[in-house]
This record gives sequence, structure tokens and C-alpha cells, in this order.
Amino acid sequence: MPEVPKVIYLDYAATTPVDPRVLEAMLPFLQAQGEFANASSWHRPGFKARAAVEAARAQVAALVGAEAGEIVWTSGATESNNLAIKGAIEFNATGRAHIVTARTEHKCVVDTCRYLETRGVGVSFLKPAANGIVSPEQVLEALTPDTLLVSLMWVNNETGVVQDIARLAPLLRERGVLFHVDAAQAAGKLPIDLRRVPVDLLSLSAHKLYGPKGAGALYVRRKPRARLAPQMHGGGHEWGMRSGTLATHQLAGMGAAFELAARRLEGDAAAVAGLRDRLWQRLRELPRIHRNGDPAACAPHVLNISFEGVEGESLRAALPGLAVSSGSACSSATQEPSYVLRALGRSDDLANASLRFSLGRGTTAAEVDQAAAMVMEKVRWLRSLSPLEAWEV
Ligand SMILES: *Cc1c(COP(=O)(O)O)cnc(C)c1O
Repeated sequence: MPEVPKVIYLDYAATTPVDPRVLEAMLPFLQAQGEFANASSWHRPGFKARAAVEAARAQVAALVGAEAGEIVWTSGATESNNLAIKGAIEFNATGRAHIVTARTEHKCVVDTCRYLETRGVGVSFLKPAANGIVSPEQVLEALTPDTLLVSLMWVNNETGVVQDIARLAPLLRERGVLFHVDAAQAAGKLPIDLRRVPVDLLSLSAHKLYGPKGAGALYVRRKPRARLAPQMHGGGHEWGMRSGTLATHQLAGMGAAFELAARRLEGDAAAVAGLRDRLWQRLRELPRIHRNGDPAACAPHVLNISFEGVEGESLRAALPGLAVSSGSACSSATQEPSYVLRALGRSDDLANASLRFSLGRGTTAAEVDQAAAMVMEKVRWLRSLSPLEAWEV
């Protein structure tokens, strides 16, 4: 059998492996000899499981400067985003029915808003500047007397662009507009302090931060209180906002992951940004490539590049040893160019011929150098095959 070459994993923005310390924190909650009981049960094993869930809640809260009682468990950021947006609109104490969001939001925010449009809610999808930034002024201009909610991500998952949430939040608070922020890519990457930044609702995910898949949380501010209609009805768990037996092991894992992230935040961010910059320094030796998103307002772990003169599909096919995301999202049969890069003004061809490199705790300088060499070799080779491109490789 031919040896299968090792794949270099540079897709940490898609998901991360579970940290061994996180796994260790999860295992005691699964088996008969451990704390497997239902955290809602009224007996000693149940109380122990409940105590673990509450300890994890405090750990998650601590990373973002929240109170434990403001953290509502969910299955991930997709569910958190759905609960925040649909829940706020459905609770609708004011009767207002307009949302302001951006074209570059994660699919689960865009599609939730599109769904609400079919239910009569007005949605303004803002177009960011070419560098990916949505200015606070642009958001304020889009507000109408009917606007109930603004939903904007802190860090974009494709480009790493960081929005100025801290500047926008108080402006929305002054105007009585709810502010939801998808922080799935921001938590543990940038410092977040909700005591200082008056965001009302904030979505979190465990598996982007070395925790398990299938666990997440929605921060719901208590003062002033953000009110939501539940999207999952049942036993009234999570203050009635999200019913369902708590996944004790998942939540213990998310708590451990967030606690670890709080301790490692500065060190991780500096190390990863250093490697990301090293990757960019190598790759930029290639002519005719474009970095997507503002490099000055970029989270430490993401580098998104468009390559002129190559075809997206051929580039991906030429790089089987590299696990990165591409500028196109595969939907059943068709490969559509990234709507995020399109919103930044990239052509279909350039959006398609893009790679998102995302780095994490496991990334080494040797991997970065190897990945850069592979990409440069393949881009030069593909350009040399093209009759239109052969003049310059
Ligand atoms: C991954 C991601 C999500 C979805 O999170 P899940 O926990 O996988 O549901 C939402 N928003 C952003 C920005 C993400 O990166």
C-alpha cells in the first residue's frame, strides 16, 4: 500500500480538536461509576451533575465578563443565533419588526433573517466596505423606528475581519435597539468584557475553542434584561428559554475549554498571529495574490487569500495534503463562490480561487513553511499550464 501522506491541518476556524484536559473533564459524566445523572433530578447524583453544569456555566461566563446566570446552554452557535434572533423577534413586546444585519454574516444568521422575512419581518443586509468592515455609522443610518435588533458578528469566520463592537454597542443601547453579536470566532481569540461592552445577546460555540462539537451558549443580558421567546419548548430548562436535558459531559467540556482559553488567551493569540504573519510573508512572494479583509483589523488565526490566474477547483484538487477551506461553499451539486468574498467586491473567479488558512494551538512553523511551499508550487504550476497565464508565473 502506498503511504498516505500526512495532511497539514490549517482549518481551525472550521473546528478544533478537543484538548486532552477538556476530554478529561468530560469523561466522568458519562458512565455508571461517574456523575451520569440528570442535572434536573432531585436526588444526590442529580445535584452533583447540576453542580458540574453550574461550575461550567461560571467558567464560560468568566471568559466574556458575564454573570453565570446570563449563560443559556445550547447545542452550538447555530442554535444560539437562531434563539437570539427568532426569540427576540417573537417575544416582540414592542411590536417592532425590523432587523439590521450584514451580508457577510454566517449562513445561520443570514438564513434565519431570510426566514423571518417570509414572516413579514423587514431585514436590512448591510454591504461592508471592501476591507470587510461595517462602520457603526452605516449601522446607525440603517436604523428605522421599527428596528428591534441589530445582529453583527464580532469576527468573520471566512476573513477574520473584526468589527468594532465596542464602539457600536453603546450607540445602540442609547437608541433602545437590541444588539446581538455572533462571537463564535471571537471568544478566546480577542478579549471580550461584557461588563464594559453593552451587548445584549452573544453567541458562543465550544468546538471552535478546543471543546466538543454540539455544545454552545447564548449570553442573555440580565440588566437591562433581554427577553426572548423560547424556540425549544418542553421542561422549562434554562429559565424557560431552552428546554432539553442538559448534556452534562458536553457542558463540562465547554467549561473546561473556556477556562483554558481564558488562561491562554494572550499567549495563544500572539503565537498564532506570529505564525499567520509568517505564512503571509512566505505566500506574498507570489505575484498577483490578494489578501481578503482588513489586515489591521483581523483576528489572529485567519488568513484568506485570492489567487489570480488559477481556477478554484483545480487549485483545491492540486492540494490534497492541505486541509484548508476554500472560497466556495459546496452545496449539494454546485460550487458557489463565497458570498462573503463577493460582498467584499471580489469577482466570482477570484472568490472561487481563494483559500482560507486558519491556524491554532497545534500549528507549527514547520507546517506553515511546508504549506506555503506547497501552495506556491501548485499556483505556479497551474499558472504555467494556462495559455493565458504562461507569460508570468
Ligand atoms: C462555526 C460558526 C457558527 C456555527 O457554530 P456551531 O457551533 O458549529 O453551530 C456560527 N457563527 C460563526 C461565526 C462560526 O464560525
